[in-house]
Amino acid sequence: MPFLFAPPPMPVIPVEGERYEFFPVHRVYCVARNYRAHAEENGAAAPEAPFFFMKAADMVRPVAEKETIKIAVPPETEAFEHEVELVAALSKGGRNLTREEAEDAVWGWCAGIDFTRRDLVREAAGKGRPWTFGKNFEGSAPVTHVRPKTRVPYPEPVDLWLYVNNQKRQSGNTDEMLFDPFDLIAELSRFVTLAPGDLVFTGTPGGAGNVRAGDRIRAGVNGVGSLNVEIV
Ligand code: MN
Repeated sequence: MPFLFAPPPMPVIPVEGERYEFFPVHRVYCVARNYRAHAEENGAAAPEAPFFFMKAADMVRPVAEKETIKIAVPPETEAFEHEVELVAALSKGGRNLTREEAEDAVWGWCAGIDFTRRDLVREAAGKGRPWTFGKNFEGSAPVTHVRPKTRVPYPEPVDLWLYVNNQKRQSGNTDEMLFDPFDLIAELSRFVTLAPGDLVFTGTPGGAGNVRAGDRIRAGVNGVGSLNVEIV
Protein backbone atom coordinates (compact mmCIF):
# COMPACT_ATOMS: atom_id res chain seq x y z
CA MET A 1 0.00 0.00 0.00
CA PRO A 2 1.40 3.39 -0.95
CA PHE A 3 1.04 4.99 2.51
CA LEU A 4 4.01 6.92 3.86
CA PHE A 5 3.42 5.35 7.28
CA ALA A 6 0.87 3.01 8.83
CA PRO A 7 -2.57 4.64 8.58
CA PRO A 8 -4.12 5.35 12.00
CA PRO A 9 -6.49 2.68 13.30
CA MET A 10 -10.21 3.23 12.70
CA PRO A 11 -11.84 4.31 15.98
CA VAL A 12 -14.74 1.97 16.74
CA ILE A 13 -17.44 1.50 19.37
CA PRO A 14 -18.51 -2.09 20.09
CA VAL A 15 -22.18 -2.87 19.72
CA GLU A 16 -23.65 -3.69 23.14
CA GLY A 17 -24.06 -7.43 23.61
CA GLU A 18 -22.39 -8.36 20.28
CA ARG A 19 -18.83 -9.65 20.42
CA TYR A 20 -17.99 -9.05 16.77
CA GLU A 21 -19.98 -6.00 15.72
CA PHE A 22 -18.44 -2.57 15.77
CA PHE A 23 -19.68 0.92 14.94
CA PRO A 24 -16.90 2.71 12.99
CA VAL A 25 -16.62 6.32 14.15
CA HIS A 26 -16.37 8.89 11.38
CA ARG A 27 -16.89 12.34 12.92
CA VAL A 28 -17.98 13.66 16.31
CA TYR A 29 -20.36 16.59 16.50
CA CYS A 30 -21.42 18.09 19.83
CA VAL A 31 -24.09 20.65 20.58
CA ALA A 32 -23.44 23.41 23.10
CA ARG A 33 -26.00 24.68 25.62
CA ASN A 34 -28.86 22.35 24.76
CA TYR A 35 -30.35 22.38 28.27
CA ARG A 36 -31.40 25.67 29.83
CA ALA A 37 -29.82 24.82 33.21
CA HIS A 38 -26.41 24.21 31.63
CA ALA A 39 -26.58 27.38 29.51
CA GLU A 40 -27.43 29.38 32.64
CA GLU A 41 -24.67 27.88 34.79
CA ASN A 42 -22.27 29.18 32.13
CA GLY A 43 -23.82 32.63 32.23
CA ALA A 44 -25.40 32.22 28.78
CA ALA A 45 -28.96 32.53 27.58
CA ALA A 46 -30.71 29.59 25.92
CA PRO A 47 -29.71 29.83 22.24
CA GLU A 48 -32.37 30.53 19.58
CA ALA A 49 -30.80 27.94 17.30
CA PRO A 50 -28.42 25.11 18.19
CA PHE A 51 -24.69 25.61 17.63
CA PHE A 52 -21.99 22.98 17.44
CA PHE A 53 -18.35 22.11 17.95
CA MET A 54 -16.38 18.97 17.10
CA LYS A 55 -14.04 16.46 18.62
CA ALA A 56 -11.71 14.22 16.61
CA ALA A 57 -12.94 10.65 16.18
CA ASP A 58 -9.93 9.23 18.01
CA MET A 59 -10.82 11.17 21.17
CA VAL A 60 -13.68 8.66 21.61
CA ARG A 61 -13.04 5.96 24.25
CA PRO A 62 -15.57 3.10 24.34
CA VAL A 63 -16.21 1.73 27.84
CA ALA A 64 -17.83 -1.66 28.48
CA GLU A 65 -20.68 -1.88 31.01
CA LYS A 66 -18.63 -3.33 33.90
CA GLU A 67 -15.31 -1.77 32.96
CA THR A 68 -13.69 1.28 34.60
CA ILE A 69 -11.66 3.30 32.16
CA LYS A 70 -8.82 5.52 33.34
CA ILE A 71 -8.72 9.02 31.88
CA ALA A 72 -5.90 11.41 32.68
CA VAL A 73 -6.45 15.02 33.68
CA PRO A 74 -5.50 16.87 30.49
CA PRO A 75 -2.75 19.48 30.49
CA GLU A 76 -3.21 23.25 30.59
CA THR A 77 -6.37 23.37 32.70
CA GLU A 78 -7.48 24.21 36.23
CA ALA A 79 -11.13 23.43 35.45
CA PHE A 80 -11.51 19.91 34.11
CA GLU A 81 -15.28 19.28 33.96
CA HIS A 82 -17.71 16.45 33.22
CA GLU A 83 -20.86 16.66 31.07
CA VAL A 84 -23.06 13.54 30.84
CA GLU A 85 -24.89 13.30 27.51
CA LEU A 86 -27.07 11.13 25.30
CA VAL A 87 -25.16 10.36 22.08
CA ALA A 88 -26.74 9.53 18.72
CA ALA A 89 -24.87 7.11 16.42
CA LEU A 90 -25.70 7.52 12.73
CA SER A 91 -25.67 4.78 10.11
CA LYS A 92 -26.94 7.05 7.35
CA GLY A 93 -26.09 10.57 6.32
CA GLY A 94 -26.98 13.18 3.78
CA ARG A 95 -27.73 16.87 3.42
CA ASN A 96 -30.80 18.86 4.34
CA LEU A 97 -32.37 15.94 6.16
CA THR A 98 -35.96 16.24 7.23
CA ARG A 99 -36.78 15.39 10.82
CA GLU A 100 -38.13 12.05 9.59
CA GLU A 101 -34.92 11.34 7.65
CA ALA A 102 -32.90 12.31 10.73
CA GLU A 103 -34.82 9.75 12.80
CA ASP A 104 -34.11 7.14 10.14
CA ALA A 105 -30.39 8.04 10.11
CA VAL A 106 -29.95 7.11 13.79
CA TRP A 107 -28.77 3.51 14.17
CA GLY A 108 -28.43 3.55 17.94
CA TRP A 109 -27.50 5.43 21.08
CA CYS A 110 -24.71 5.66 23.66
CA ALA A 111 -24.35 7.42 26.97
CA GLY A 112 -21.22 9.55 26.96
CA ILE A 113 -19.24 12.21 28.78
CA ASP A 114 -18.18 15.39 27.00
CA PHE A 115 -15.09 16.20 29.07
CA THR A 116 -14.27 19.88 28.96
CA ARG A 117 -11.44 22.21 29.92
CA ARG A 118 -13.92 24.84 31.04
CA ASP A 119 -11.32 27.54 31.65
CA LEU A 120 -10.07 27.21 28.07
CA VAL A 121 -13.63 27.33 26.70
CA ARG A 122 -14.37 30.48 28.73
CA GLU A 123 -11.14 32.15 27.70
CA ALA A 124 -11.73 31.33 24.03
CA ALA A 125 -15.38 32.40 24.12
CA GLY A 126 -14.42 35.67 25.80
CA LYS A 127 -11.87 36.42 23.08
CA GLY A 128 -14.10 35.28 20.21
CA ARG A 129 -11.79 32.34 19.51
CA PRO A 130 -12.64 28.70 18.68
CA TRP A 131 -13.39 26.28 21.53
CA THR A 132 -11.17 23.58 20.05
CA PHE A 133 -8.65 23.18 22.86
CA GLY A 134 -11.37 23.44 25.51
CA LYS A 135 -13.19 20.45 24.08
CA ASN A 136 -10.85 18.36 21.93
CA PHE A 137 -8.16 16.41 23.80
CA GLU A 138 -7.23 12.78 24.37
CA GLY A 139 -9.91 10.85 26.20
CA SER A 140 -12.38 13.74 26.06
CA ALA A 141 -15.22 11.58 24.73
CA PRO A 142 -15.74 8.30 26.63
CA VAL A 143 -18.94 6.49 25.59
CA THR A 144 -20.78 3.30 26.44
CA HIS A 145 -21.05 0.59 23.84
CA VAL A 146 -23.68 1.50 21.26
CA ARG A 147 -27.18 0.07 21.69
CA PRO A 148 -29.47 -0.29 18.66
CA LYS A 149 -32.41 2.12 18.75
CA THR A 150 -34.88 -0.79 18.79
CA ARG A 151 -33.54 -1.71 22.25
CA VAL A 152 -33.59 1.78 23.75
CA PRO A 153 -36.62 3.56 25.25
CA TYR A 154 -35.61 6.93 23.81
CA PRO A 155 -37.36 9.01 22.32
CA GLU A 156 -39.54 8.41 25.35
CA PRO A 157 -38.14 10.77 28.01
CA VAL A 158 -35.25 9.20 29.90
CA ASP A 159 -33.17 10.38 32.87
CA LEU A 160 -29.47 11.06 32.59
CA TRP A 161 -27.24 11.35 35.62
CA LEU A 162 -23.65 11.52 36.83
CA TYR A 163 -22.09 10.73 40.19
CA VAL A 164 -18.60 11.69 41.38
CA ASN A 165 -17.35 9.57 44.32
CA ASN A 166 -20.93 8.38 44.89
CA GLN A 167 -22.30 11.93 45.15
CA LYS A 168 -24.88 13.02 42.61
CA ARG A 169 -23.57 15.90 40.52
CA GLN A 170 -25.83 15.88 37.48
CA SER A 171 -29.38 14.75 36.90
CA GLY A 172 -31.79 15.68 34.19
CA ASN A 173 -34.19 14.31 31.65
CA THR A 174 -33.98 14.26 27.88
CA ASP A 175 -37.32 16.08 27.69
CA GLU A 176 -35.46 19.18 28.99
CA MET A 177 -33.44 19.46 25.75
CA LEU A 178 -34.02 22.74 23.95
CA PHE A 179 -33.60 20.95 20.59
CA ASP A 180 -34.14 17.20 20.43
CA PRO A 181 -31.59 14.92 18.71
CA PHE A 182 -33.54 14.69 15.45
CA ASP A 183 -33.80 18.46 15.18
CA LEU A 184 -30.05 18.66 15.94
CA ILE A 185 -29.24 16.15 13.18
CA ALA A 186 -31.50 17.94 10.69
CA GLU A 187 -29.88 21.27 11.60
CA LEU A 188 -26.34 19.87 11.29
CA SER A 189 -27.20 18.50 7.84
CA ARG A 190 -27.94 22.04 6.62
CA PHE A 191 -24.26 22.89 7.13
CA VAL A 192 -22.44 19.64 6.40
CA THR A 193 -23.15 16.40 4.60
CA LEU A 194 -23.60 13.93 7.42
CA ALA A 195 -22.16 10.44 6.94
CA PRO A 196 -22.53 6.94 8.36
CA GLY A 197 -20.37 6.71 11.47
CA ASP A 198 -21.05 10.24 12.65
CA LEU A 199 -21.79 10.73 16.36
CA VAL A 200 -23.86 13.57 17.79
CA PHE A 201 -23.44 14.49 21.47
CA THR A 202 -26.79 16.05 22.39
CA GLY A 203 -25.86 18.30 25.31
CA THR A 204 -25.74 18.13 29.09
CA PRO A 205 -28.20 19.04 31.83
CA GLY A 206 -27.19 21.27 34.75
CA GLY A 207 -24.48 20.39 37.25
CA ALA A 208 -21.40 20.13 35.05
CA GLY A 209 -18.49 20.40 37.45
CA ASN A 210 -14.89 19.87 38.30
CA VAL A 211 -13.06 16.57 38.70
CA ARG A 212 -9.49 15.83 39.71
CA ALA A 213 -7.10 12.88 39.88
CA GLY A 214 -8.48 10.13 42.11
CA ASP A 215 -12.14 10.93 41.44
CA ARG A 216 -14.41 8.11 40.31
CA ILE A 217 -17.25 8.96 37.96
CA ARG A 218 -20.30 6.88 37.21
CA ALA A 219 -22.59 8.30 34.53
CA GLY A 220 -25.44 7.05 32.43
CA VAL A 221 -28.64 7.45 30.52
CA ASN A 222 -31.46 5.19 31.72
CA GLY A 223 -32.22 2.44 29.22
CA VAL A 224 -29.17 3.30 27.14
CA GLY A 225 -26.18 2.44 29.34
CA SER A 226 -23.75 3.61 31.98
CA LEU A 227 -20.02 4.03 32.22
CA ASN A 228 -17.36 4.23 34.91
CA VAL A 229 -14.36 6.53 34.67
CA GLU A 230 -11.46 6.90 37.09
CA ILE A 231 -9.62 10.19 36.76
CA VAL A 232 -5.85 9.74 37.02
MN1 MN B 1 -21.44 19.06 26.07
